[in-house]
Amino acid sequence: MDIAALKTDLAGLQIEVNPRIVQQKSRDFYWYSPVLKRQLDSVVADVVATPRNLDELLYILGSCWRNDVPVTVRGAGTGNYGQAMPLAGGLVLDLSGMARILSIEPGRVIAEPGAILADIDAAARASGQELRLSPSTYHTASIGGFVAGGSGGVGSIRWGGLRDAGNIIRLRLAAMDGTVGSLIDLTGPDIAKASHAYGTTGIITEVEMPLAPAYDWVDMIMSFPTLEGAIRCGEALAAADGLLLKNVAVMDASVTPYFKRHAGYLTAGEAVVVVMAAPFAAGDVVHLGRHAGGRVVFRSDAEAPETLKKLPAAFELCWNHTTLRALRVDPSITYLQVLYPQPDICGKVLKIAELLGEEAPTHLEFVRFDGAVGCFGLPLLRYTSEERLDEIVALHEAHGCPIFNPHRYTLEEGGMKQTDATQLAFKKRADPKGLLNPGKMIAWDQPDFDYGKPYLFPSLSV
Ligand code: FAD
Repeated sequence: MDIAALKTDLAGLQIEVNPRIVQQKSRDFYWYSPVLKRQLDSVVADVVATPRNLDELLYILGSCWRNDVPVTVRGAGTGNYGQAMPLAGGLVLDLSGMARILSIEPGRVIAEPGAILADIDAAARASGQELRLSPSTYHTASIGGFVAGGSGGVGSIRWGGLRDAGNIIRLRLAAMDGTVGSLIDLTGPDIAKASHAYGTTGIITEVEMPLAPAYDWVDMIMSFPTLEGAIRCGEALAAADGLLLKNVAVMDASVTPYFKRHAGYLTAGEAVVVVMAAPFAAGDVVHLGRHAGGRVVFRSDAEAPETLKKLPAAFELCWNHTTLRALRVDPSITYLQVLYPQPDICGKVLKIAELLGEEAPTHLEFVRFDGAVGCFGLPLLRYTSEERLDEIVALHEAHGCPIFNPHRYTLEEGGMKQTDATQLAFKKRADPKGLLNPGKMIAWDQPDFDYGKPYLFPSLSV
């Protein structure tokens, strides 16, 4: 790669070469994993470019093509698996400057990739709409980064995940093939060529997403004397087809001490269910919770606005924000991503909880999964060694609970994306030199690589 020629070429555009800033922009939240921290700590780009519009973006890509410079896209850099880290150096393409919301219509929004999710919702609110899905990093993450690196989150209890047909309407991609202006629109099943591909198959320059009706969601916390009661309640809520909910999570008693700002509402030794409910559904949530042996200890619609200002939103207790709260107190904590399949989700969770005890306090997120109630676990993990981590992964698998390993930086080993023949053929067309986020797709270098485990995002080949 010819970085000097690239820099000369990009003079006049917004580029950054200050080593400290370049290092900052070469990082994401990889440090959640002690394994990735060890492996990726020294990863750094040579230069960061921040295009302000599509023409600048295409010019930068053209220059990188001519000078053989690898390109790693950065949305907001909140990914957890080193996804946005430039393993081969080169250029970090910071898309925070392309954040316009282009149109909002009934049921759909079109935005530039750098648009922040909360900003999209703020704009959609004028027409009574909001995004179906968002990560718990809603206030900081970009829509392009969510589509290219995320999987689901808040809203998945109703809408499933980004992997599901209909949750992304259209993606526009800039290819890295030397033909400036080569844009590809992906719709239908083709969307999977770029969704959760870490920017290895093209740069997403425009996103069209479905919208749902917006509500003033009520944040609720229910407390339970036993973990089993909380899980049964979570399952019942997730299965209640008539209840309009946006999130249902369960945390065991040893997780809640990390919810510092909610401490006044929580009872030591009790598990909790954290729910986001539409205002008209909140009463039924209370009944279902009582039926499962719990009681409501917090409702946002019963609190004064000044109190609410001091508290994080319920979704910021959930998903990977649960891990973040624990990590802030105890930096040795990390986490796992587990799928507890049907049938008998509760039995599987309790069995693993019994086997691992305080080493892996339970945290569950209920979702809609392949048309039924599904349950992901993001247990906190009191980390001791990589060997023990591998044992814990194997233990889950031995009990029929697949792991989507957050301690791996490749698409395949994370268990998310299957880079099958169709995906590879698309990358060969869109990125023939292999300049996009090199090192993240094993199949690019080893086409016969067989991970041999289930993937979250299904195969593209039919
Ligand atoms: P980045 O981290 O910048 O990028 C993510 C990946 O996408 C990278 O590989 C990057 O190269 C690629 N990329 C970014 N923009 C583009 C583009 N325009 N074209 C092509 N490739 C691109 N994730 C969830 O799915 N659900 C959650 O609930 C969730 N909760 C989280 C909570 C915490 C506390 C943290 C730290 C992370 C969480 N995440 C979650 C992970 C992450 O925040 C989300 O996936 C988020 O949407 C990523 O957006 P970003 O803009 O930060 O992307």
